[in-house]
Amino acid sequence: MNYYLRFLITLFFTLISFVSFAQKCGLNFKTDGIVEFYRVVDILKSDKSPSEDDWNRFNNSPGYDVLTKLEFGKNYLRDIITVAFKPSEQKSESEVKNRYKKQGNYYRLFIDETVNGLKSADSCRESVMKFVKMITDSKTLDKVKEETGKYIDDAVIDSLFAVNFIVFSDSRGYDPIIIGITDPDKSTEEEHILLVAHELFHNLRNKRVKLQLPERGEPDSRIMNTINSIHNEGIADMINVHKLYADNPELINKIESQRVIKEQKYQKSVISAFDIILSELSVNKESADELEGMASSLITRSGHPAGYFMAKTINKVYGEKELKRLALKPFEFFYVYNNAAKKSGSAPGFSNETLSYLKRLEAKYFRE
Ligand SMILES: [Zn+2]
Repeated sequence: MNYYLRFLITLFFTLISFVSFAQKCGLNFKTDGIVEFYRVVDILKSDKSPSEDDWNRFNNSPGYDVLTKLEFGKNYLRDIITVAFKPSEQKSESEVKNRYKKQGNYYRLFIDETVNGLKSADSCRESVMKFVKMITDSKTLDKVKEETGKYIDDAVIDSLFAVNFIVFSDSRGYDPIIIGITDPDKSTEEEHILLVAHELFHNLRNKRVKLQLPERGEPDSRIMNTINSIHNEGIADMINVHKLYADNPELINKIESQRVIKEQKYQKSVISAFDIILSELSVNKESADELEGMASSLITRSGHPAGYFMAKTINKVYGEKELKRLALKPFEFFYVYNNAAKKSGSAPGFSNETLSYLKRLEAKYFRE
């Protein structure tokens, strides 16, 4: 009990100092989700059930509200939190997990990680609060701006840059951004700071880029989304992925680092295949729908690996400043990549058909 009392006092003062700082800076960083998570967990740990009201407060708190509405519905998080923490329900943990695993790939792949994440967030509450304090500290935010500023002009944090912190094993690029925390000690301070800098890049770039994306379901909408995310994620990954994992012997054994290395190995093939699909799209209107679908399933993880490969190639040949110049020029990013690839001799370029197809899309959807 003493531990929880001490925790609540720490939590209280952390949040008070956080709130007053956030107000001063016009920051829109919310941590209510973390507080609501610990509140229902504490009720469950005493083997009681939170009331409907308690669960509503949890489900409606910033961050969880979006996950509930857009992804999971009201019951998923409630069910797994209950079996993870309520002593008399813990025996049904695998039964509940199996029930969800049958509902689809996402649950099958991620439910174990999610439940383990929730448990670890409970056992390291003090680190979670220390993390929140660190990430909203003015020195941290200066560093965030500095890192983002390497790849886009006028890197400022204003109230439009909104982040909701919650206890969860993943993050989401919604607006506001959702950053999930489970065990902050697993990542270094630099990893956390650069992740926020990556998100700030998206926020500024998306506000300023003069793209007019077609509505969902309209012609070109899928291919434009693919092109848009390759550019967006490619440069953003230079901020954290490149700096942290590309050439860093200290982090080389981390899971993230291993994944990046593994993915980068086959990006040449991905880009060559992408080039073939785009050149077919340039002449084949009647199968545009199928081809756009092929392109978007080829470009995995919202364009991160392919975009990073392209940005890295540009960086190697023309340097960081050139990438910064391209921050708001999605199509030129592809043309400059093509030149860099040809110059470097170690990356696939694009065919003339692909380039003229890109030019046509650029004329239609991009205003300088
Ligand atoms: Zn991103």
